[in-house]
Amino acid sequence: KAVFQFDVGPLLEQVGARKESLNFMKKRIRMLAAQWASAARRLHDKLQKRRREQKRILVHVGFLTEESGDVFSPKVLKGGPLGEMVQWADILATLHVLGHSLKISVSLKELQQFLGAPPGRGSCPPTGPLPFDLIYTDYHGLKQMKQHMSLTLKKHKCHVRVIDTFGTEPAYNHETYATQNGYRTNWGYWNLNALQYMTMFPHTPDNSFMGFVVEEVNETERLSIQKNKVNNMAVVYGKDASMWKGKDKFLELLHHHMEIHGTVYYDSQRPPQVPAFVKNHGLLPQHELQQVLRKAKLFIGFGFPYEGPAPLEAIANGCIFLQPKFNPPHSSYNHDFFKGKPTSRVVASQHPYAEQFIGRPHVLTMDFGNWTTFNETIREIMELNVEPFVPHEFTCEGMLERVHAYIQNQTTCNNTRPGPPHPTCSPPKSPFRLLPNSSTLSWALPGSAQPSWPPLTALRVLASAPNNSCVKTCQEAGLICEPAFFQYINVKEAFTALNLVCEGVELEMNHLLPAVPVEHKECHLQQDSLLFSCAGSSPKYTRLCPCRDYRRGQVALCGDCL
Ligand code: UDP
Repeated sequence: KAVFQFDVGPLLEQVGARKESLNFMKKRIRMLAAQWASAARRLHDKLQKRRREQKRILVHVGFLTEESGDVFSPKVLKGGPLGEMVQWADILATLHVLGHSLKISVSLKELQQFLGAPPGRGSCPPTGPLPFDLIYTDYHGLKQMKQHMSLTLKKHKCHVRVIDTFGTEPAYNHETYATQNGYRTNWGYWNLNALQYMTMFPHTPDNSFMGFVVEEVNETERLSIQKNKVNNMAVVYGKDASMWKGKDKFLELLHHHMEIHGTVYYDSQRPPQVPAFVKNHGLLPQHELQQVLRKAKLFIGFGFPYEGPAPLEAIANGCIFLQPKFNPPHSSYNHDFFKGKPTSRVVASQHPYAEQFIGRPHVLTMDFGNWTTFNETIREIMELNVEPFVPHEFTCEGMLERVHAYIQNQTTCNNTRPGPPHPTCSPPKSPFRLLPNSSTLSWALPGSAQPSWPPLTALRVLASAPNNSCVKTCQEAGLICEPAFFQYINVKEAFTALNLVCEGVELEMNHLLPAVPVEHKECHLQQDSLLFSCAGSSPKYTRLCPCRDYRRGQVALCGDCL
């Protein structure tokens, strides 16, 4: 049984101080200690006496191992990608606070020890049963486990969770399909269940949303922020001078209205390449950055970096985040940064989460091409009064709640999901019956069938418009696509329920299925469950989409999911 841990002290000891990156994580965990403790108390009360199973968990942070080059640790003090470090620190804290039994590895040697390699023969694959219920790692760690566990990884890979900032879509994850259909990248094709990839933001519902935490302000801090806000103080998003390149004109315009601050890393060999009128603080420790954000009115992004934690931290401290719209949107098809990433997602602004999930008055997203509008917007921002805000899913409680729900309910092993129906033999057998009132498009589980998570009562089946993905179809109905439900709608009855007539049924491997081709009347069912995908659209198909509701401020969980 898992017991909530209200003290992060033992975790800090366990993390050790072997690397600069680990020191950064420890400082962060310490900074958030009180918030973790009070969040744990609230979740403990919310779950009442519900039994939570204690899992044996290995966290192997692949990108921090020397074997993968550990390019990050030396950069921590120079503004390297701290976003990843922030997320790993919060994952460790979450797993500890939830009371699981945790082992932490940041080297191949530790990985081998934990996985039980035969003594003295570190390079041999372990032979016994896997000593963990879950392994959290990243793409680097996955590669190392493949080398180290070789034969056994196949058997155990359902226990793995891959922390994957931007996400991996099913079409890129399926090795044969990716190779045959032009979706092969340097990252994908591990043939995992796409829900095993866990992202930084709720990018694509095909993956699980892991997230991270943003510190909340208390009532005293809120009042002090209100009192001390400086209406003409702006902070620029970007720890590296390269992120400011080519923005001189904007900076000049902004400087007409506001005092501009930056946190760009510099040293004697590398003076910051920012205009002289910018007050550059250099890279700050997180709690000092927070103090700067508390005074500032505006946090402004110039298009890069994409989707990091900093804008949420700025909003949490009462700043307005102003960011550019991308027209056309950036994606792996047209932009170097996303090229080779295993996703087709298009990014229509610097921080789509801030734009879509937070929005006005905290977030203003605009075309930066028109200087008159830019000027007007800056003036508007100086007049606006905005309260600090953290979306629930980014609070300690929200993260604990979500990860608790995944750990206790998400099953990626022993999946006894119904196999694909045979198109010509017996008619496809759905283990589910339609509720009497089929117009609500609800489905119900007969008593004998296996339980599902999310519960099947949350399922709403919708037909997409041709050329719409299931992500968009569900979104337009105020719902979210739930890939765990695809298995239940991959049956002829699901088409019938939507008044889509099937003159025949065909089985095929295609990530857009189940669907009806616009020009035919056969219903096409998905042959390989690994290819079930919320992402993906084609003018040739009307897709069948499994949607569900979600909690306000916690998109990963349906109303009855906790
Ligand atoms: N950060 C910091 N000091 C600074 C600027 C940023 O500690 O001077 C932290 C910030 O608090 C945030 C993290 O760096 O949590 C990552 O920031 P960003 O959004 O820039 O993401 P990245 O590009 O590093 O992934």
